[in-house]
Order: sequence, then C-alpha cells, then structure tokens
Amino acid sequence: MTDARPNTIDCPQCGGENSLRSGDRLLACAFCGAALFVDRSGAVGHYWLPRLLDAEQARAALRRWMAGNDTVKDLDRKSTIESVEPVSFPVWMFRSRHGGGEAAYIEPAAPTPIPQLADLTVPAGQLRPFEEEAEDVARVDATIPLETARQWLSERGIEEVFETSLVQLPLWRCRYSFDGGSYQALVDGSTGEVMAAVFPEKAEAPYYLVAAAGLILFGILGLAITNPLIKLAAYAVTGLPLALIAYFVARRV
Ligand SMILES: [Zn+2]
Repeated sequence: MTDARPNTIDCPQCGGENSLRSGDRLLACAFCGAALFVDRSGAVGHYWLPRLLDAEQARAALRRWMAGNDTVKDLDRKSTIESVEPVSFPVWMFRSRHGGGEAAYIEPAAPTPIPQLADLTVPAGQLRPFEEEAEDVARVDATIPLETARQWLSERGIEEVFETSLVQLPLWRCRYSFDGGSYQALVDGSTGEVMAAVFPEKAEAPYYLVAAAGLILFGILGLAITNPLIKLAAYAVTGLPLALIAYFVARRV
C-alpha cells in the first residue's frame, strides 16, 4: 500500500512543515535551518559534540586507564593496542525536570556492548547542530527507535521529559589484546573518559582465599586454646604471616 499524500514532518524548533521523501532520516529544516533527525515517532533536533581528542590523545587516555586501579596490574605495559578508530555514535538525549532540577539523560540509539554509555554526561553547552565529521569517521546509524529508548528511560523512573534530541558522540573505538584475549574499550573523544564492559580485571579471588584461610585458622585457634593470653599470642603469631601473604598477593595482581 502506498500513501498518496506527501509525507511531511513538523520541525520541533520552529513548527514549520517540512516535506519528506521516504527514507529521509537526516534533514535541515527548510524554514529555520535546524538539523533534524527523523524517527518513526517524529522529528527531533540532531546534534553532535565536537571531537576534542585526536587518535594519539585517545591512545594516551586508554593507557592511563590501563595503568589505573580497575584493571589487572601492568595492563598498560603487557597489552597491545591493535586499533584506535573514530566513530560517531548516536544516543538519545532526554532533558527532564525529574526531581526538581533540570538534567539530561542518555540512552543508546544503537546497540552497544558497553552499558556505561547511558551514564555519560553530555555538556549541553558544547552541543552543536549536527554535521558530518571527517570522511574517515564512521557514523553509526540510529537503529534503536525513540519509543524504545523512552521506555528504558521510564523504567529508570525518569519522567517529565520536556525535550528530546539525537546526539552523535565522538568516540574512539579501541581494540587491544592481552594474555591471548582481545578486548574493546571506548574513549569519549570529548572528555577522554574510558568505557569498557569486559576487561582484564584486578583479580579478587586471591584476597578472598587469604581472608578465608585467616578465618579458618583463627577459628581453629579459638576453639583449641582456652587460655585468653595464649590465644592472643597465637593470634599474633598467625596474623603476621597472613598479613605478609596478603601483602605479596596484593603486589602480584
Ligand atoms: Zn524549523
């Protein structure tokens, strides 16, 4: 079935009625010039954040994160960065008066394995009307409908949205290998923040083992020795080696 009427869409900025060829998703309003993105449920403002970090700076941000406390020791030295590619990643941005003050909330507009994207803060003052980045920057299509993102937002308990837009984030997609495995991380090209869902984490198991061994030993000593003074001495004697083991475990991981 084809619809005989010309397809039109109202500009969310000026209210002007724009005609639309089927399949058009990117549009400049014929009346006010606003950059628009056309979703099934209507048109929204389309923005981008300028890319402030170049590839070298993104690489350096990744290295700093690798040297930090969340990742396994020496990841920065023992991993190989395979690739650092610029992508323009779409997110739905909702401005809301939730909880009194005004705030912006993000939901991804394309599938991503990295859930921290929703926690990004978009500095509203830095938003620019959408324009394509350099030719080598791959723009990821917004394939998650606005309706779906609205649903996620309300599941987070956020209501009172007064403005919705699509924002292209300037990300660097990094791939690196470590100890036979390959991993992905995203570097936010406007802030240098690093996001990763799966990465070589600081192992916690050895700490738990030491703690469990300590509890068992202390339990046995507590049961076996009744004299409180000897008990105290025994605790001191076993506590020191345990503390040393814990120290060496901490040094290794
Ligand atoms: Zn307009």
